[in-house]
Amino acid sequence: MIYWDHAASTPPYEEVIQTMAEVMRQHYGNPSSIHRMGEDAAKLIKRSREVCSAALGVKPAEIILTSGATEGNNMAIKGTAFQYAGRGKHIITTATEHPSVYDSCLYLREHGFEVTFLDVDQKGRINPDQLRSLIRKDTILVSIMHVNNETGAVQPLEAAGRIIKQCNPLTLFHVDGVQGFGKLPVDLQAWQADLYTLSAHKLRGPKGAGVLFRREGVQLHPLLSGGKQESGMRSGTENYPGIVAMAKAMRMAKEQLGTFSEQVGALRDELLAFIRTIPALALNSDEDGAPHIVNVSFSGMKAEVLLHSLEEHGMLVSTKSACSSKTAEPSRVLLAMGRSEDEASSAIRISMGLTNTKNDVERLKNALQDAVERLTPLMTGRNE
Ligand code: PMP
Repeated sequence: MIYWDHAASTPPYEEVIQTMAEVMRQHYGNPSSIHRMGEDAAKLIKRSREVCSAALGVKPAEIILTSGATEGNNMAIKGTAFQYAGRGKHIITTATEHPSVYDSCLYLREHGFEVTFLDVDQKGRINPDQLRSLIRKDTILVSIMHVNNETGAVQPLEAAGRIIKQCNPLTLFHVDGVQGFGKLPVDLQAWQADLYTLSAHKLRGPKGAGVLFRREGVQLHPLLSGGKQESGMRSGTENYPGIVAMAKAMRMAKEQLGTFSEQVGALRDELLAFIRTIPALALNSDEDGAPHIVNVSFSGMKAEVLLHSLEEHGMLVSTKSACSSKTAEPSRVLLAMGRSEDEASSAIRISMGLTNTKNDVERLKNALQDAVERLTPLMTGRNE
């Protein structure tokens, strides 16, 4: 089997697995306990926070440790809304966000907030001029992702940040950075981001751990009530085996950024060039996107059928994103990019990582060719 679903989750680094197992074996105290074992656990968290903050070029106090990006995005969006509702009730986001952002905004809309969705172009990118025209005095938050999880589209965050702060210095800027960290440079200062979300398992760390960066001075209304861990922002006993392992993965992923974009980008380019030679396949990604995601539609064929045909060749790909692949609807992201219902229902996502090789790509090319050749007559037959 060859794994082509790295945007859904990645194989953890061996060092990450070892670190996590070691911490679980040797440290099981509660970091809130004031005896020695509790203090040792608290020290592990402190050191990990420093590593995470260094990887992002921010202060340790600006890091909130979470259970992943779903929690981080909910906390950033609802936390901002509940905190700053007195200042305004307008939120801007894009039509192509991950459900943890999109649905949080829909939730707020049902609770008295006004949400404006930015359009995207055919490549999935927002238009900064549209953003400029929409920011108002009562806009409390703009949330724009770095890299789209279905297509790899990269948003112009520096331009967005500049516009937001020019138009309304009080508007907070949140970036869902899940699919970008370790794949593309991250510059929270240049983007003028106030909030930034990560999930460890997307960068070869463990599941169930994440980071929410919150710029100093930004207040968030906490979503969880309880023991007031994480400076009151995130009650609940800390998952410090996961936190320590995540810090290690963040450091390693950052160190490997250059290698990742070069090696994985070369595999992506090879695959894109091949797909362009098959008329039945239409690309929804290109070289302008992140190095690890290729999205392609096989019009007239349900994405699941192509997926299972590729699986018969030992190729594990995904339909839409793993989070929404169990819903029958066409991809909301591709529809927003102007694709037809047919194209949006027939898209698969191939996402890669450093564990993939040139030989893997050769096998995938053969599998794609074979699947398209085998399925095309069935499709014609069905249409007749
Ligand atoms: N945002 C993006 C862009 C994602 O790709 C994902 C994971 N699919 C998430 C948020 C949510 O991350 P998690 O499932 O780890 O909470």
